[in-house]
Amino acid sequence: MKPQALITGGSRGIGAAICDQLAADGFHVLVHYGHNETAAAQVVERIQHAGGTAESMQCDLLQSDAIIDLFARITATKKGLKVLVNNAGVNIDALLMRMQDKDLDAMWTVNTKAAILCARAASRLLMKENGSSMIQIASVVGECGSAGQSAYAATKAALIGFSKSLARELASRQVRVNVVTPGYIMTDMTGGLTEAQKEAILRTVPLGFLGTPRDVASVVGFLASSSSRYITGQVLGVNGGMYM
Ligand code: NDP
Repeated sequence: MKPQALITGGSRGIGAAICDQLAADGFHVLVHYGHNETAAAQVVERIQHAGGTAESMQCDLLQSDAIIDLFARITATKKGLKVLVNNAGVNIDALLMRMQDKDLDAMWTVNTKAAILCARAASRLLMKENGSSMIQIASVVGECGSAGQSAYAATKAALIGFSKSLARELASRQVRVNVVTPGYIMTDMTGGLTEAQKEAILRTVPLGFLGTPRDVASVVGFLASSSSRYITGQVLGVNGGMYM
């Protein structure tokens, strides 16, 4: 039986590339999605076409009860869980003085609270496996800050402190917890940037180009594998040198 990996927000962008990567690495992939059933089904189909195995699982991460139900469904399969990737995220840019309460709530609930609730529910399952791993997708802006993204940056910086603490809690059970902090990656989330904005961003990226979802996925693949068995509580930047 293949080990299972759950990727939240696996329906699109970075999450979809992580699903492809982990399926190619031999995992049975649980492609979580919130609202994009069709996109999640396409990821499953693509993985199966490439010779892997996957299935999609719906859950609105804004609802705590739905998260409990998601993990009850995974536990009921009795197939275990070896890897959790907390990837789903929401980014709503605004200068702090114009930040709406509802946008702050949405970012905090999906980016931080849901990731913590998923981590809590997954811990029990991960502890039962050998060499299991949890990976949070935070952001470079949680490390270096970004004007117009203070609330988003706060939700991502919180994930870093959370992960380092959890890495210490779970280390004796051989469950590793790490964080990946992408820089600017071309996905729907960054699709709205104007050419002028992209040029301004590129001036801050020493390598001189924007990343792709695969650039992040390959690092997650490494952190999910035994090649990283001595790495826990770390933050790995995938940002073209934007933050060193
Ligand atoms: P996308 O906007 O392309 O995709 C977001 C994913 O999150 C989707 O799969 C979406 O599922 C899921 N999601 C959002 N809200 C909910 C919800 N309420 N319930 C369930 N699922 C939800 O994002 P990216 O691929 O660009 O980003 C992935 C992660 O990487 C995020 O955490 C983001 O903050 C982080 N990141 C991205 C960067 C970038 O440049 N793109 C840079 C740094 C970090 P569905 O569509 O099915 O609802």
